[in-house]
Amino acid sequence: MPKVRKKLVIGNWKLHGGLARNEALLLGIRGSDVMIGVDAVVCPPFPYLHQAAELLRGTSIMVGAQDLSAFREGAYTGEVAGEMLVDLGCRWVILGHSERRQLFGDTDAVVAAKVDAALKAGLVPVLCVGESRAHRESGSAEVVVAAQLEAIVSAVGVSAFSSVVVAYEPIWAIGTGLTATPGQAQAMHFFIRNLLERIGVDAQEVRILYGGSVNAGNAARLFDEKDIDGALVGGASLLVDGFLAICGAASAAVAIG
Ligand code: PEP
Repeated sequence: MPKVRKKLVIGNWKLHGGLARNEALLLGIRGSDVMIGVDAVVCPPFPYLHQAAELLRGTSIMVGAQDLSAFREGAYTGEVAGEMLVDLGCRWVILGHSERRQLFGDTDAVVAAKVDAALKAGLVPVLCVGESRAHRESGSAEVVVAAQLEAIVSAVGVSAFSSVVVAYEPIWAIGTGLTATPGQAQAMHFFIRNLLERIGVDAQEVRILYGGSVNAGNAARLFDEKDIDGALVGGASLLVDGFLAICGAASAAVAIG
């Protein structure tokens, strides 16, 4: 009997938002009934986490952060600890996003320390991995993704890793309008699940999301693939209709699958 993993849709708002804009978006998504059978999460910037948690109180939509500190407490100006995120109502945290790796020095070692901190705080880490266009064109996409995953598994251990959500986000597809084809995405998700299995993680339990220009038009086809357990969504998560359509496609895939 194949394992049924609940579909998961996470909206990464990145550096977008404002009190009034957020309120319109949150009120727009909170009244909808398209989330049936789906875990839905929104990840606003830090200052708006409390607002999101308050406006989503009593709904099934959860709140996550876009990063956290590897440190718990101390003289670390500007940092935000996992326990603080939990205090604000967060249950999830995106880690190792390619924008953080490329622009803010989040190496595999830094990402591993953050994943460890998230798990210790009781948050679900959403670990982003993915190759550049040059790596895909040179045929080394799998090598790159394997190295990113192995670095984290060896730091946190195979049993802790079963609580991690993996987001496969090919860098060339993020914010570009270029989406991996369902076949390309499924092939990499299958590779990731097999790799995790081989190194001792209970990979049938691990949800693997696809991220990279997911929108209302391509979500359903992606969610039909066996190893695609949902999506990490950037741009389309800032639009009420876009986010709801993607959640609706996930819900329909659950109903059919
Ligand atoms: C992302 O930022 O994680 C992402 C996938 O962005 P977009 O959907 O805009 O490509």
